[in-house]
Amino acid sequence: MLTNVHVLLIGALLCLLMMLVMLSMWRSRIPGVKEWTGGNLLGLAGFVLYAFGRELPPLIAYEVANALYAAAGAAVLVGFRRFFGRPAHVPWVVASVAVVTVAVAIFHYQYDSFVARTSIIALHQSVMALLIGLTVRRSRGARRSVYPYLFTKCMAALVISGHMVRIAVHVTNSGEMTSLLQPSPWNLVFLSLGALVLPALSFGAVLLVHDTMLAKLEDLANHDFLTGALTRRAFFELADREILRSRRSGRSMALLLIDVDHFKQINDALGHAEGDQVLVDLVLRAESVVRSGIDHFARVGGEEFALLLPETGGDGAVGVAERLRLLLQKSDPDSHSAGCSVSIGIAVSRKDEPLRDMMRRADLALYQAKQQGRNRVVLQAA
Ligand code: GH3
Ligand code: MG
Ligand code: MG
Repeated sequence: MLTNVHVLLIGALLCLLMMLVMLSMWRSRIPGVKEWTGGNLLGLAGFVLYAFGRELPPLIAYEVANALYAAAGAAVLVGFRRFFGRPAHVPWVVASVAVVTVAVAIFHYQYDSFVARTSIIALHQSVMALLIGLTVRRSRGARRSVYPYLFTKCMAALVISGHMVRIAVHVTNSGEMTSLLQPSPWNLVFLSLGALVLPALSFGAVLLVHDTMLAKLEDLANHDFLTGALTRRAFFELADREILRSRRSGRSMALLLIDVDHFKQINDALGHAEGDQVLVDLVLRAESVVRSGIDHFARVGGEEFALLLPETGGDGAVGVAERLRLLLQKSDPDSHSAGCSVSIGIAVSRKDEPLRDMMRRADLALYQAKQQGRNRVVLQAA
């Protein structure tokens, strides 16, 4: 038969399990992981002291056990705050645990009331869950998946609702409720739910960490390490999508291939590091010419770049290319960056033409620009 002690020990085991999961992410150095690990360790200790309360001195069974349990919820909250880069207000959080501990002592030694003690703990944990829910609600990046955030918010809401019901039941049945270990169906229900609180919130944290790691990896795969421009792979993925969109809308799009002229000479004259800086600077300047969120600018080779302009015809594309070419030529005395000349080949999409063929035409136009003496724009005839 399942007893309160069994449930409390299951709670301790779940905390241990979550602690081991958190430890597996220790090396990621993601903020919050340390606090979540610590929170589950504190929860584990709290549950063990609750479970063996009858064999322990009252100070440990009541004040220390409750302080550990309150500190566990507080540590999980601090973890969420750190994870999202928000101020953790640690002194306030520590103060809240101290207040809870003193209040538990008062309702232990001064007025012995089990209902008051559990209600204080339930209230404290509800506040921690509420703050976690609010922190998560305010922190979702525009392009992150909804699920981990929704899961964590729902868990926080469940924790709060469970504790509110617990307080209501305890207050209305105060005469019958005398101890955590007293065998009663209500105690069993609330202890079972209580055993899930820290693991549920920690599980939400794990989902959020994985979502962040995925975002970091996606960012690494999609952006060139040196310049931050899109990578070739990301560019072709986006271009495939844009070509389908252009077919559906019937509006043409333009592809620009941009190659730095005599880049080898720039490297030879200024050194490889300065050559790198020229590429970084080129991308920075290009950003002022492209429409953010609409056009796609990528580094497709060493000193070769591609720019995709959706819903743009030949004239528009030549205008953009000329602006870019002239802008890149200027040397910037403020940033000591050297200007460079570029040759640009342009192809405008044709009906039902595969991306590969459009790319080939833009490449041909670029070749012609080089042949004609460089530092110029050539539009492939439609
Ligand atoms: P062209 O006008 O015909 O394009 O001449 P080019 O010198 O620009 O072309 P080429 O293909 O002969 O040389 C490209 C050079 O770009 C050679 C390579 O060392 C250099 N390069 C490629 N990637 C990088 C990079 O990441 N950093 C630096 N500094 N140089 C790079
Ligand atoms: Mg070149
Ligand atoms: Mg080249």
